[in-house]
Amino acid sequence: MKDYFKNVWLGVWTALIGMRITIDHLFRKNVTVQYPNVHPKDKAGWMDMPSNARNRLYVDMDECNGCNSCARACPVNCISIETVRSVPGDAPPPLASGGKRNLWVSQFEIDFTKCCFCSLCTEACPTGAIVMTTEFEYSSYNRYDLVYNFVKLQNSMSDEKIAEVKEKWAEHQKEKKKEAVEPK
Ligand code: SF4
Ligand code: SF4
Repeated sequence: MKDYFKNVWLGVWTALIGMRITIDHLFRKNVTVQYPNVHPKDKAGWMDMPSNARNRLYVDMDECNGCNSCARACPVNCISIETVRSVPGDAPPPLASGGKRNLWVSQFEIDFTKCCFCSLCTEACPTGAIVMTTEFEYSSYNRYDLVYNFVKLQNSMSDEKIAEVKEKWAEHQKEKKKEAVEPK
């Protein structure tokens, strides 16, 4: 009989030992939040993401020269850049930092459904135009909303301007061909 009660007590004691951390947490201050209904930023003690966090990319179109280095470095081909060559006398405005540009960047798309946030594109960029940000809240119900065209988002070139520079380049090419066939 004595052994029976001893075993019962041992069973209860062992369970209590196993539950020690759980029981301890029952009486501690709650640190979790019901995200996204409650944002961690609204809670005291929230720390911002570290500045070197790898989340959504950002491209500063005023600093992009259309060199395509980022797209070539991307291991999953999620960057798609379209450029148009400038004709003599109609160069694009210089970079915000002062560098010269010879290409019009008419499209700069990143498909964030494919991006693996490796940051290789930022390493390859010679001007620092493409950077990783701390922005992590950009999920969507529609996967096509996750394809960002930074030219459109920043209105760095209007559709009319894109059509104009393409036409100018086509005209320039035609004249060059004509000159080659009928030299002056
Ligand atoms: S972070 Fe990596 S996967 Fe994403 S666009 Fe840059 S190179 Fe490509
Ligand atoms: S590497 Fe930099 S400058 Fe070149 S196309 Fe990409 S973002 Fe633009």
